[in-house]
Amino acid sequence: MKTAIVTGAARGIGLATTDEFLSRGWRVAMVDWDAAELEVALSTRKNVLALPYDISNPQQVETIVRETLDAFGQVDALINNAGVADFGRIEETDFDRWRRVMSINLDGTFLMSQAATPALKETKGAIVNIASISGLRASTLRVAYGTSKAAVIALTQQQAVELGEHGIRCNAVAPGPVRTKLAMAVHTLEIIAAYHDALPLNRYGTEAELAGAIVFLCSEKASYITGQTLAVDGGFEATGIGLPALRG
Ligand code: NAD
Repeated sequence: MKTAIVTGAARGIGLATTDEFLSRGWRVAMVDWDAAELEVALSTRKNVLALPYDISNPQQVETIVRETLDAFGQVDALINNAGVADFGRIEETDFDRWRRVMSINLDGTFLMSQAATPALKETKGAIVNIASISGLRASTLRVAYGTSKAAVIALTQQQAVELGEHGIRCNAVAPGPVRTKLAMAVHTLEIIAAYHDALPLNRYGTEAELAGAIVFLCSEKASYITGQTLAVDGGFEATGIGLPALRG
């Protein structure tokens, strides 16, 4: 039975990705440092393992991979989805805020991938790193978040080039806005309306739409795709001078 490790699996895009894997007959090691929310998610699902650990802690990352192998014996896919958003102006982003975003979004993705690589070599498995449209297009307030996500895209390319000879494929998914707890903490009603205006599809994406793309990249149907960033963003990345005022 194929096995995926999904980080940030207790809710949002990570939980939807867990369900997509389960619906295709995979087992899922669900990683999330919110132990209480993870327990709730676990209670209604089969073929899952709860790993209440912090992906930015090197020792805990080793434990995640060891406990997955002990329980399931193999790792076929790693989804580096756990992340935090902290929007602030450049002058207000002190070093602690900067480091917190980097340590989870970037260091966590690096550490988890490194720890899972020996197991992924055995299965010729896949890594999918969750970046963001904020890693593809700059904006205000995203000096730490956007930079961490651009780095995740660069890290994905490094991983694809180096791990390709072992048959490991590495891709990134860059979500547009999705109404998860993470997004709703930083999106006001005004921001939501402005996004609708700026997005060619005129709406937010759903967790399930993200999950479909993520699981596709781990499937046989994506067997020749590596080193890519797939924007699942309602067309946002495609717009250059696609100003709302120029449309319609
Ligand atoms: P979410 O906050 O709903 O879920 C993220 C989960 O990750 C939470 O359950 C949280 O407890 C967990 N987590 C955070 N830090 C962790 C750590 N150090 N160790 C273990 N678990 C940790 O967020 P979401 O919207 O589902 O986001 C998932 C990913 O998608 C993130 O990487 C985010 O940056 C990215 N993303 C989201 C959006 C959006 O609009 N929602 C847009 C672009 C990118």
